[in-house]
Amino acid sequence: MKMIKCNKPATCGECKKDIKKGDLYRKKSKRIGSYKSDALEMRDGIPHIICNGITIAVKLCRECSIK
Ligand SMILES: [Zn+2]
Repeated sequence: MKMIKCNKPATCGECKKDIKKGDLYRKKSKRIGSYKSDALEMRDGIPHIICNGITIAVKLCRECSIK
């Protein structure tokens, strides 16, 4: 897995510990809300995109990324 060197202090998305400048971290996408994928639904002949959740990018510290 690819580790990225931190150039700006951040907070781990898993354990909430600080990721200091120069530390290695890993990017991970996390899904909030429903785990169903987005769907396309027809309502009155008009297509609607049903958004069931959002995906955000979080940073994981070295400890959490090796779990
Ligand atoms: Zn962590």
